Amino acid sequence: MEQTIHNRVGQIYEPFKVRFLEREIGPLQPDEVLVKVRASAICGSDLHIARGLHPSVPLPATIGHEFAGDVAAVGSEVENVQVGQRVTVEPCIVCGKCDACRHGEYGYCEHITFTYRNGDGAMADYVVVKAPYVYQLPDYLTYETGALMEPLSVATHAVRRADVRLGETVLVIGAGAIGMMVAAMCRRSGAGRVIIADHNDSRLQMALQVGATDAVNSGKVDLEQEVARMTGGKGVDKSFECVGRESCFLQAIMTLKRSGTATIVGIYEKPQVTFPASRLVTHEIRIQGAQGYCWDFPIAIAAARDLPLEKFVTHTFPLEQLQQALDTALDKNSGSIKVLIKP
Ligand SMILES: [Zn+2]
Ligand SMILES: [Zn+2]
Repeated sequence: MEQTIHNRVGQIYEPFKVRFLEREIGPLQPDEVLVKVRASAICGSDLHIARGLHPSVPLPATIGHEFAGDVAAVGSEVENVQVGQRVTVEPCIVCGKCDACRHGEYGYCEHITFTYRNGDGAMADYVVVKAPYVYQLPDYLTYETGALMEPLSVATHAVRRADVRLGETVLVIGAGAIGMMVAAMCRRSGAGRVIIADHNDSRLQMALQVGATDAVNSGKVDLEQEVARMTGGKGVDKSFECVGRESCFLQAIMTLKRSGTATIVGIYEKPQVTFPASRLVTHEIRIQGAQGYCWDFPIAIAAARDLPLEKFVTHTFPLEQLQQALDTALDKNSGSIKVLIKP
């Protein structure tokens, strides 16, 4: 790659407002890969950023960390991918030197950062990434579904942490993209029954198509009572909170059977919650969180083989229309699940 490449990078500069930074990409470092972005999805966390309410990402911020594309150039020491290959990218960057990294738990890296937080969001024509984080797409994934390997890895991480077992009954609260992917992965992990709850009937219908076995409109019925009825009063083995709201947190713990485990995945714009701590004792329940991924990308890519992920993609826009794409994703009435940019 001799000449510099011109690049447009989408940035949220104030709440709800997008602009493009004009950048030049110079020669690559030996371990870098230049990816021509073909599909880049808007994430729920981007919406927290767009509202200016993400707990750890202040504005302005470039966005875009769920993407797939073609390798356009590689640095001199890159061996795992070649120019022309279709790839997706794990968008974290870790130090490899801290205690967590040295124990293989790079998800807990003390210096973890993300490509987009360093100003290299993938709502762009190109991104430069480090070679070890680049994964080749198998034939059964398109650019569109390949861009969904990042959220699918988040779901994979949560389901692996919850240790979902054959025949278990699971409750997933929230039928957004992550909730639906959690439901799909629970089913793949052998759960016998996967109940999903949301206020939106069309999302619930879609969740049933990707792996949920039962849908509950928790805007119309009381979720705790309904789950008690469905489980003969016992409660569920595992619950997942994929919304980030106090009421959903409470549902996630109050629907658990004794010794059950709640896994909290949602991002809490209001982090304080109040819950009956006596439940921890009387029911010996466990509450844990799940964030990001650690060795989950290859598992998600392998498990995606027969998942109907294309159903998640409800809208696509060219890069120039990033503002409209963001507005669509933010609009509760747009019916959007995953909004994709195709530069
Ligand atoms: Zn994401
Ligand atoms: Zn580290």
